Amino acid sequence: MHHLKVIAASLMVIGLAACGSQSETDTHSQLGKVIKNDKFTYANYDKVQMTHLDLDLDVNFDRKVLDGTARIEFEKLDPSAEELVLDAKDLSIESVKFLSAGNWADAEYSLSDDDDLMGQALVVKIPAGSQQILIDYETSPEAEGLQWLSPAQTAGKRHPYLFSQAQAINARTMAPVQDTPAVRITYEATLRTPPELLALMSADQDPYTPRDGEYSFEMPQPIPAYLLAIAVGDIEFKAINDHIGVYAEKYILDASAEEFSETPMMEDANAALYGPYRWGRYDLIVLPPSFPFGGMENPRLSFLTPTLVAGDKSLTNVVAHELAHSWSGNLVTNSSWRDSWLNEGFTSYVENRVMEALYGEGRANMEQALDMESLKAGIASAKSAELTHLKMPENLAHPDDAFTQVAYIKGANFLFFLEDRYGRDQFDPFLKQYFDTYAFKSVTTEDFLDYLQKHLGAKYPDKVSQKEIDAWVYGPGLPDTARQVKSSAFDNVSQLQAKWLSGEIKAKDIPTGNWSTHEWLHFLKTLPDNLSKPKMAELDKAFRLTGTKNAETAFAWYMQAIKTDYRAVMPQLRKFLMEVGRGKFIYRLYAALKDNGKETWAKNVYSQARNGYHPIAQRRIDAILEK
Ligand SMILES: [Zn+2]
Repeated sequence: MHHLKVIAASLMVIGLAACGSQSETDTHSQLGKVIKNDKFTYANYDKVQMTHLDLDLDVNFDRKVLDGTARIEFEKLDPSAEELVLDAKDLSIESVKFLSAGNWADAEYSLSDDDDLMGQALVVKIPAGSQQILIDYETSPEAEGLQWLSPAQTAGKRHPYLFSQAQAINARTMAPVQDTPAVRITYEATLRTPPELLALMSADQDPYTPRDGEYSFEMPQPIPAYLLAIAVGDIEFKAINDHIGVYAEKYILDASAEEFSETPMMEDANAALYGPYRWGRYDLIVLPPSFPFGGMENPRLSFLTPTLVAGDKSLTNVVAHELAHSWSGNLVTNSSWRDSWLNEGFTSYVENRVMEALYGEGRANMEQALDMESLKAGIASAKSAELTHLKMPENLAHPDDAFTQVAYIKGANFLFFLEDRYGRDQFDPFLKQYFDTYAFKSVTTEDFLDYLQKHLGAKYPDKVSQKEIDAWVYGPGLPDTARQVKSSAFDNVSQLQAKWLSGEIKAKDIPTGNWSTHEWLHFLKTLPDNLSKPKMAELDKAFRLTGTKNAETAFAWYMQAIKTDYRAVMPQLRKFLMEVGRGKFIYRLYAALKDNGKETWAKNVYSQARNGYHPIAQRRIDAILEK
């Protein structure tokens, strides 16, 4: 996924991870022994594993619930196992049956005490010979993985909308599953909706299916439960090519198709580097503004925030990121959230390679430089040194805490380091082979390091030392072997900024006419925290920054305004906070408001905006403002 969360005042957390050494935990291991090493699941996946999920659900907007059945196929790894343990959170279980000799019979089951983070263990007795169970259940209106929007919360204002976010551990609020990235399932589903609405899932679907209120889906490739996804609304489709297209509400459909028109080139660039796209269609859906992330890599259907539709294709690296997950993350998956950098660091690396292939080194370098500034800020404000290791500590409190700049940007920079040392001639084929070797499997950090040693380390023993690798993976902060990012475009911006700060030139004389969003972000994010109000006003007057439509630029400007107490932005900042639910922006804005003496104002805005935010965002901002 591409999102940031705040764990300290300004540390953003952006990812998820998986666990377990391949040799120890891969279900297909020749050893046949699976070791359970994901502490965020109740599932006994070392003994019994789900293999297939078949959902049959009514999407009930009146009651804000999914109501129906989940049929689960499973296999025993341990022949003596007598129970299947699933994760369930805020689910009402009506009945559980097992299939025996062609008939469904009542199964014995129990639910454990409810845990705030983990939910409940659903323990089902599985009689000898049975390989399927059927669970009649419904979700809760408070399910953290589902956001139910009223018509007023959509752009069209006429129909309600539902979308899901299962990563990291919210699939269990949508259906009873083994909610760990270590277990992969195929799935099929039938969803019934009001007939005027369209339902979509992270699965095979026909973009031209008639709208009749009943939709069927099939996902033939095995995926972890966190990639289960649903969207239902007044959604329309526009093709970009024969197997790529965009879904969105009508108001933003054409703009989205135009903004993301280069997605086919991204797919080609990705495939040229790392082998063919293996998932059939690749579609994008632009969600309502309350979607809390930049994007979510739901397979075959990436979920995106509308804040990417900037009108100038300047923020499409997020599409490159979600698409890149079709190799890193969705194809080769971290087996526990402690290894989230395997998903997010690899994906951020591939994203940057694709941006370079399409738009040249200049843009790729600017994006690396902006990321590096963000990583340094994240490391500086980390709650503990251990949370700046690529391999997350065993005492990780919440899987979302594994999604920081560390997983994304430090992770990507570890791969930049390896690329620089081994050279692209060696490193590119190595990575392609890694994706092939572990396709549709879940791996640990240690699996990757073993693979690296075997295929590059042993061949070129003088290029990289174990000590250097350990500093990246098991050491704090940014190792001194990190690539020095150089952007001549940013150097130019910095020189102009210095001239303006010293009074040598006026703001209106800064030649910004050809600046990209990246150059603007560099300019704004490197302004001094104590910039005077007259200087802020001068910038605002020259460039009309307050109220800008580009969400990234607006965010950078409002952060600067909060730090310098430039109050002219407050009405537009309120509007931004009321309209945008993307966590990367709003978590840091609320935290900055609180830290800069504007807590009362922030709480007042939040009290009005909260209902429109996703439950995930509500939980995080509640914590920031100590509601
Ligand atoms: Zn991601």
